[in-house]
Amino acid sequence: MSCIFCMIVDGTIPSKKAYEDDEILAFHDINPQAPVHILVIPKVHIPSVDGITYENSSVVARIFEKIPAIADAAGLTNGYRVISNCGSDTCQSVPHLHFHILGGRTLSEKMA
Ligand code: 5GP
Ligand code: ZN
Repeated sequence: MSCIFCMIVDGTIPSKKAYEDDEILAFHDINPQAPVHILVIPKVHIPSVDGITYENSSVVARIFEKIPAIADAAGLTNGYRVISNCGSDTCQSVPHLHFHILGGRTLSEKMA
């Protein structure tokens, strides 16, 4: 498996974990763009938002169910932004579905 996030899931590539259960993993981004920058991923390989289906969408619900506690544990008491890049126009660089949690300072009003 050449997917780097699948390799993070199986431990081949180390990561600084923020949360883990049987279905999802959260870990700190290697190149943070804010004081707190955490990635939340399904353990199962889904390429992007485009790959979410009726059959696999329960893991996306799990991710969003857990994001508030992950953000709270990271100290993001003043809020945070959740972003998922999907496809080349968004510069998605890792083709394994992930949600960025960004915070720890006042972020730009602009999202793009
Ligand atoms: P994308 O550009 O696909 O939305 O976001 C991919 C993110 O994964 C980037 O913010 C990048 O810094 C992060 N990233 C890429 N490789 C690794 C890695 O090996 N470890 C960690 N922790 N983050 C990574
Ligand atoms: Zn993968």
